[in-house]
Amino acid sequence: MDQLPDDRAEVVFEDYKPAYTMAQALAEANRCLYCAHPPCVSACPTSIDIPTFIRRIADENPLGSAQTIFDANILGMSCARVCPVEVLCVGDCVYNAMGVPPIQIGKLQRYATDLAFERGERFFEAGEDTGKRVALVGAGPASLAAAHELRRFGHSVTIFERDDHLGGLNTTGVAPYKMKADRALEEAAWILGIGGVEVRSNVNVPGDVSWAELEEGFDAVFIGFGLGPDRLLDLPNADASGIHGAVDFIAQMKLEAVDLSHVKRAVVLGGGNTALDCVRELPGLGVAEVSMVYRGDEASMSGYAHEWAVAKQLGVRGAWRLQPVGFVAGDAGQVTGVRCQPLGADKRPLAGAEEVVIAADLVLLAIGQSRLGDLAAALDGVEVEWGRILTDEHGATGRPGVWAGGDCANGGKEVVNAAAEGKAAARSIHAHLTGGPHA
Ligand code: SF4
Repeated sequence: MDQLPDDRAEVVFEDYKPAYTMAQALAEANRCLYCAHPPCVSACPTSIDIPTFIRRIADENPLGSAQTIFDANILGMSCARVCPVEVLCVGDCVYNAMGVPPIQIGKLQRYATDLAFERGERFFEAGEDTGKRVALVGAGPASLAAAHELRRFGHSVTIFERDDHLGGLNTTGVAPYKMKADRALEEAAWILGIGGVEVRSNVNVPGDVSWAELEEGFDAVFIGFGLGPDRLLDLPNADASGIHGAVDFIAQMKLEAVDLSHVKRAVVLGGGNTALDCVRELPGLGVAEVSMVYRGDEASMSGYAHEWAVAKQLGVRGAWRLQPVGFVAGDAGQVTGVRCQPLGADKRPLAGAEEVVIAADLVLLAIGQSRLGDLAAALDGVEVEWGRILTDEHGATGRPGVWAGGDCANGGKEVVNAAAEGKAAARSIHAHLTGGPHA
């Protein structure tokens, strides 16, 4: 991908968690109890040795700290920004049970990894060439983690990516107040800077390259192609202009300039974290009235409560127990509203309740993404359930020589889960290629 445009919409957002200064990092690191059995580590999908990396910051060795982090999770820089630490490491810090503010692990991780990143430090080298070749399908966090680990073992790697950019949703889907697209691209380039990774962009698998070609040309295949396009609604006037899939809209905002000057009222349909990202972003893009419409009530949203709390502070309105049944379009074919059926607590239409219309110049559908696992079902032995590729705990599918990880296997989780699964698969692939035990 060429240089990202300077006027892309996401650049207006400031970091919502400003970086620590050295003094702040030292003060916070010195609060850590360096627990012998740290629950924060158990809560981290990549099992970063959190007490050790924090102690190294306290010892004024931030680069040593960064090495500890990257050794466990090569995407530690972006995870420091995008991990929902409130429900992972920070949420499990022992201080919570004492009524004391927990250690700000994410901010400490960002302090150490940013420093290493800015200085261009590289902590790991490729292993001696084994002559083995591994194909990775997709260039998102799972494949990047797998590629780095495979190179440390000395296997050569070829990535097949359907888009023209690296990083997957880390580049196109992360809320810009957490991380911007250019940072994700820089991280991907930094990871692949270990060398020995060929990237073939704008290549669909299967399609431009078949599964058979991959299996014939490589010693192992890792499938990490993530999720598919936004799910859409088949409702009256769903083709009105101004109705977009949420993930598609976020990607556009992160990569291009977006003109929302005509949008006064926006409605986001959904109750998950993508919906929450959208309702937090739209006020920052100048939309005066933002509503989130959800079929359940506030307490039953699948999105994180701490994100919704911030959205409310931004003036976002929650409209609960409403089922979209159609859209209202103006004479020019532009959406002007969302027709909704009120629901009862059982999510069934409320008897006698009249349809309501919520005015909107822009509607974002945050009702999930399609799953691509069926694309792999053509491989005998690969089991797919509800569009998700089934694997064992090492990422191995039921077909010898084929592994999978990240969103296409876990159904859509966090970047840190993808990083953990990509690394685990790489270790399993290495064991397979060398006849050794799982590392
Ligand atoms: Fe430090 Fe909290 Fe982890 Fe204990 S649980 S090691 S205090 S961050």
